[in-house]
Amino acid sequence: MRAAVTYGPRDTRVELVPEPSPASGEVVVEVEACGICGGDYSRHQAEIERSDRLQKPVISGHEVAGTVIKCGLESEGLPIGSRVAVSPNQPCRRCPICRKGNTHLCPNRGAGELSTGGGFAEQIRVLSEQCYFLPEAVSLVEATVVEPLACCLHSMSRISVKQGESVAIIGGGVNAQLFVQLAQLSGARQVILIDSLDSRLRMAMALGADEVIDISSGELEGVHRAFPGGADVVINTRGAAEYTRHAIELCAVGGRILFYGVARVGETVPIEPHLIWRKEIQLVGGRSFNTTFGAALSLISSRRVHVGSLVTRSVNLEGYAEIVALPARGHIKTVVVPQQANKEEQRPQDRNSG
Ligand SMILES: [Zn+2]
Ligand SMILES: [Zn+2]
Repeated sequence: MRAAVTYGPRDTRVELVPEPSPASGEVVVEVEACGICGGDYSRHQAEIERSDRLQKPVISGHEVAGTVIKCGLESEGLPIGSRVAVSPNQPCRRCPICRKGNTHLCPNRGAGELSTGGGFAEQIRVLSEQCYFLPEAVSLVEATVVEPLACCLHSMSRISVKQGESVAIIGGGVNAQLFVQLAQLSGARQVILIDSLDSRLRMAMALGADEVIDISSGELEGVHRAFPGGADVVINTRGAAEYTRHAIELCAVGGRILFYGVARVGETVPIEPHLIWRKEIQLVGGRSFNTTFGAALSLISSRRVHVGSLVTRSVNLEGYAEIVALPARGHIKTVVVPQQANKEEQRPQDRNSG
């Protein structure tokens, strides 16, 4: 089969690799679509990459949707032909962290790719328990957003937005757009998204933000005007250190800040502990997901959360190898469709498609 194999930063090649065959308890899924995550892009930027990640070539891709084409022994209940979304977490279930129930933080799981080979390939091999049946109403492209939504849901449970609270969301990427919808579902009285790209701000309004603030000029006045007393909850989807300082300033007395965007390893930021003490701010990290994959899928199938319009571009494996080293600023979400004839296709923005 064909797969996009990453050897190092800016070095991804489409190659023929052996077809996977399922061991006991496993299935092989033909990949119909696999979302490109922020981590997949950053893996290609040598300067922010820990050197240990690329010691051996990897097939990345952990936002997989497809069809079961081979079943190993003891994978009953998942017949050939099943349309599935694949939960990527493969914890060891033996380490002390797993045994405390934090399987999503298991140090022995792959860093952003499945240990059995990721979804930027024609086929993947996974445990049958990683597969979730897709209802008819959910398309395979929509199903690639189940994983990021599961991550957002997990973080929402950690930051617990209460009815009547105000929520500021920093950043306008796919996760931020999902947080807009989840914050509204939580009963927030005011949900405001802050970004510098017009297309992202318009998307947020279409998905239910009460207001958006354009910070392309570098001016934060609009933010302070929108939140005179600060925001009860600040969701920071941007990793860059400067946003951490903004988040602490923006947070209301008694508020919480979610650290969701991935900061660079080793990067530090000067903060004023006095502010955290005086305002009694809670700093909360949110990473990956533990038990929310099924809930994310049901929010998509019930149309409580709209994800179709977030996928703005699709590429094939060759297209992926070319674009993954480039910044994707103009796009909310790109998916890899291995069987697509064209290297790159824009997806129509249909706001009603869900
Ligand atoms: Zn992801
Ligand atoms: Zn573990």
